Amino acid sequence: QWIYMSGEFVDKSEAVVSVYDHGFLYGDGVFEGIRVYEGNVFKLEEHLNRLFDSAKSIMLQVPYEKEELEEIIVETVRRNQLETAYIRVVVSRGAGNLGLDPSSCSNPRVVVIAEALALFPKELYERGVRLASVSSRRNRPDVLPPQVKSLNYLNNILVKMEANQAGVDEALMMNDQGYVTEGSADNIFIIKNGTILTPPTYLGALEGITRNAIIDLAREKGYEVKEQPFTRHDVYVADEVFLTGTAAEVIAVVEVDQREVGDGKPGAVTSHLLSEFRKITTTDGVK
Ligand code: PLP
Repeated sequence: QWIYMSGEFVDKSEAVVSVYDHGFLYGDGVFEGIRVYEGNVFKLEEHLNRLFDSAKSIMLQVPYEKEELEEIIVETVRRNQLETAYIRVVVSRGAGNLGLDPSSCSNPRVVVIAEALALFPKELYERGVRLASVSSRRNRPDVLPPQVKSLNYLNNILVKMEANQAGVDEALMMNDQGYVTEGSADNIFIIKNGTILTPPTYLGALEGITRNAIIDLAREKGYEVKEQPFTRHDVYVADEVFLTGTAAEVIAVVEVDQREVGDGKPGAVTSHLLSEFRKITTTDGVK
């Protein structure tokens, strides 16, 4: 397996970074998770835009133009002869001294990993997932902008651990005002009386690429979609609930805090959106 490491392709066994890299020391950096469907790097442009925006927000200079990084990503997939894959792009602040100050880091580190994808089990789409609301709160947007996909994922890791402890599949995260934000690595949608709702990202959610694709697709198919704040209660009494993400695609939620959602089975609108989504995965992107 070939890994791209700042200017060269190296074997997986040699793909190592410095212990002085501030990505390692402090989680100082940004990343993207991207999927390849039948050789199509899905929504690559959108992922690159988000990566560059995240980097700009934390004053991290990506040492490439977008077009160059696009070519590197496509080449990484090609070199590994992958048709269906998961890609991880990481830009870290690079190696510096032990102080927090990033000015000692002169070379941001760029890593691209592409590997065969471990798909979510098919049964999970058929039965749907269970959520539990967690006590950890999403970072306040005025502290760390939720739109920045930074390497600092402790918040999300903590909520994932809480979900594991509760014996469910995924966490339902809220912000410090109690508004629902997202899961540990997925955006959330609810459907009530035919209207599809998802929280505005300023409440504390990543602006998911899948989220945006679903908003567009749903509107195209004639559904009403609103970005609107809602609470746990609204999730409990929704007709349908689903999560979106690069890994999860579109996955139905059938239980939240031990309350059955709808009739406890994946809903019709969710299934419709998943099938429409899968139609664009092989065409919308870069080959
Ligand atoms: N929210 C968080 C915190 C994430 O890490 C992710 C995964 O990337 C998502 C939502 C879903 O975003 P996307 O659809 O771009 O994968």
